[in-house]
Amino acid sequence: MTLSVAIVGSGPSGFYAAEALLQQGEVAIDLIERLPTPFGLVRGGVAPDHQTTKQVVRAFERTAQDEAVAYFGNVEIGRDLSMDELRGLYDAVILAVGAPADRPLGIPGEGLPGVVGSAAFVGWYNGHPDFAGTDPPLDGRRAVVVGNGNVALDVARVLVKTPQEMAASDIACEAAAAIGAAPLEEVVLLGRRGPVEARFSYKELREMGSLAAAATVVAEDQLPEEAPAGLPERDRRVVARNLEILRGFAAGGDPAKPKRVRFEFYARPVAVLGGARVEGLRWERTALRDGRVVGTGETHDLPCGLIVPAIGYRSIRLAGVPFDAERGRLRNRDGRIAEGLYCVGWCRRGPSGVIGSNKQDGDQAAATIAREIRPRVAAGGGKPGRAGLRRLLAERSLRWIDYPDWLAIDAAERAAATGGAPRRKFVTVADMLALLDRGGQPGA
Ligand code: NAP
Repeated sequence: MTLSVAIVGSGPSGFYAAEALLQQGEVAIDLIERLPTPFGLVRGGVAPDHQTTKQVVRAFERTAQDEAVAYFGNVEIGRDLSMDELRGLYDAVILAVGAPADRPLGIPGEGLPGVVGSAAFVGWYNGHPDFAGTDPPLDGRRAVVVGNGNVALDVARVLVKTPQEMAASDIACEAAAAIGAAPLEEVVLLGRRGPVEARFSYKELREMGSLAAAATVVAEDQLPEEAPAGLPERDRRVVARNLEILRGFAAGGDPAKPKRVRFEFYARPVAVLGGARVEGLRWERTALRDGRVVGTGETHDLPCGLIVPAIGYRSIRLAGVPFDAERGRLRNRDGRIAEGLYCVGWCRRGPSGVIGSNKQDGDQAAATIAREIRPRVAAGGGKPGRAGLRRLLAERSLRWIDYPDWLAIDAAERAAATGGAPRRKFVTVADMLALLDRGGQPGA
């Protein structure tokens, strides 16, 4: 008997789960995605100038076109059908819904216009329909990015790259135009701990040293002579390499470059300043005690027009699914939420790791399903699966996007690209649906 599995979310973790299930055979997999477009963070999160990273979708495309797999885009669980209905239709449901919400900074003034969390900011420049209207204020000379992770580096880099440097990217046109016209001179990267504790990857940090129009700088006295003793060997090597890069930045960079990116370590935000909108950020000098951040009481006010907290993400609640509010993820044990309900990726373990880190979750979910669910299905207890979903969507007159529809959107985006860009993205669902209504032909 064929096992029927619904995977909710078509980002990397959803695709890795599908691949793992396909390897077992005797399975029908339906990928259910809220947006018309697949690939989750590869399309909407990975930086638009990191096209090599996006090539991972080639493997996902093969999976999506496997005859055992069907794609149902533009279908939202909780809006179009309930979690209970979904679980009633499928032998197993795997949630791969990611962590789409920004973690709050938790400081006064955080709600002022001009504070734009990295989920919204990255979503905006990547053409994610949820953030098409974000319109971040880019009329100031300085922006502050809070956080010392790779997302903070992405945001800082995209803010200072020239239009020429972004030409071969798939940045949303509106964002490219707004950033290209911005009078921005400085981006400050604020880290509450030091360079040793920063979570930058070496490759991403090194890239900051070769920006066409921006010098990258850091005060030399913020850098220790060498990686501290006592770190595990692998961490010590990472830290040593990052320190070497940062020491290069301490030389001050090319003064002829009109912009700069400045690292400010040991600085934690304490208040957003401003009346009707962001006018600055008050930060406090910190020290580390046993690796923990403590305030020194010394504060500084940094004038700026835009603050992008890039401090990590949270998953969101789904009706009928237990949520761990403290950790900001779905409550689960090793990816199992309940019999027949599993989770993978960032909604399972929080926002960590690289794209490939999600593979392990998929393998584990597939193995648990094989153990827990397959025996019942083999005994004839299978559920309706795809036929049931199609019937329900048709009864509700819901319009879903199948994989050929996505290929038509993909082709139209590629055809509209100019100047070395791989694609020109549609940034609204309405535009994608209108394209399909026109049989995939470009609009007037
Ligand atoms: P991250 O790596 O967890 O970094 C979050 C940063 O925010 C840390 O420096 C953290 O400092 C800081 N932070 C947290 N709360 C804060 C607060 N209240 N005030 C000030 N600072 C605060 O998260 P991320 O950058 O969002 O990245 C998420 C995952 O995606 C990571 O695994 C990352 O490597 C991956 N990613 C990879 C790439 C790439 O490979 N090119 C690109 C983008 C993202 P503390 O350390 O002090 O907590």
